[in-house]
Amino acid sequence: MELFKTIKEMGHEQVLFYHDKKSEMKAIIALHDTGLGSAMGATRLWPYISEEDALRDVLRLSCGMTYKAACANIPVGGGKGVIIAHVENKTDEMLSAYGRFVQSLNGRFITGQDVNLSSEDVCKIKRETKYVVGVSQQSKGPVKMTAIGVLLGIKASVELQWKTKELNQLKVAVQGLGNVGKELCHYLHEHGVKLFVSDLSRKKAEEIKHLYGATIVEPNEIYSLEVDVFSPCALGGILNKLTIPLIKAPIIAGSANNQLEEEQIDSKLLESKNILYCPDYVINAGGLIDVYNEMIGSDEEKTFKQLNNIYDTLLEIFIRAKEQGITTHEAAKYLAKERISRAKKIVTS
Ligand code: NAD
Repeated sequence: MELFKTIKEMGHEQVLFYHDKKSEMKAIIALHDTGLGSAMGATRLWPYISEEDALRDVLRLSCGMTYKAACANIPVGGGKGVIIAHVENKTDEMLSAYGRFVQSLNGRFITGQDVNLSSEDVCKIKRETKYVVGVSQQSKGPVKMTAIGVLLGIKASVELQWKTKELNQLKVAVQGLGNVGKELCHYLHEHGVKLFVSDLSRKKAEEIKHLYGATIVEPNEIYSLEVDVFSPCALGGILNKLTIPLIKAPIIAGSANNQLEEEQIDSKLLESKNILYCPDYVINAGGLIDVYNEMIGSDEEKTFKQLNNIYDTLLEIFIRAKEQGITTHEAAKYLAKERISRAKKIVTS
């Protein structure tokens, strides 16, 4: 990867690398855009195969955070942190070192919990820095709010496709039963949805079967199920030239970040198959909405009002895409860019 060329093309402001000698902690923080405020973005811990993979991930995720904030009308910038490690090698010393890294940015980056970090881990990071959100008593919990946001996205998609607000006839396939996937299964079950689930952990899948009567399928079978909605709630890059031809669900609506492996190519491929794709950074903004409102001390009513906007924003994106003959991915990007430039004009005027 040509680092400076890539950063210039993607529009990043700053990328920071940190290695803590004592704990051997290796981390990257990318600040994509702080034009509207501090860059917000949760931190992911992942055993990246190469440092280039980690860099690519943090650059894409931080850029997605800028668009996520814009589509959710949250006046913050986009950032992201990644810690390069196997989850079983995670130590308190590493988390403390990461906390000091975040603190050294003096509030330009505010972080929270993402894949492979528990709320206990985030509390350990918080001992070293005040720039951590999503762990206070006021917070509804970013995971819960993300799952409710995905549920709203499924409702908006169903409304557009079948002109109904009812979900009780639906079959939904959920990929990934971690924090968000499990919570989403709870809400879908409450709405009478028939669930099909997969996770790399058989134990997690068995738990959802036990709780909600879900049918367990093997991880590689989830794509080709005859269901109404496919909900990716595991990792990114799962919509690609190999998986898209298998997908039979007419709607894709899930929490995972960076679902499209190659944004342009894969979004067009989905459109050519008449699959309605909910852009990830729009549908999964619930966690950001929650932590932002925690940070500024909003009440619950305001937080839920903003959360409900996910439904309207997605409908707006679907309609724009249809009217302009573009993909929902492109429509979301245009909407985000419009909102950012409008907000920056207000800030500078
Ligand atoms: P998590 O680590 O708790 O859960 C991910 C789950 O996916 C794990 O159970 C893992 O075993 C499973 N998994 C991984 N690869 C899989 C595969 N190929 N097939 C089936 N299962 C697989 O993570 P999470 O917090 O639930 O987040 C899930 C996704 O949602 C991530 O992409 C995350 O970035 C995104 N997201 C999370 C939040 C949040 O509040 N946690 C907010 C916005 C977006």
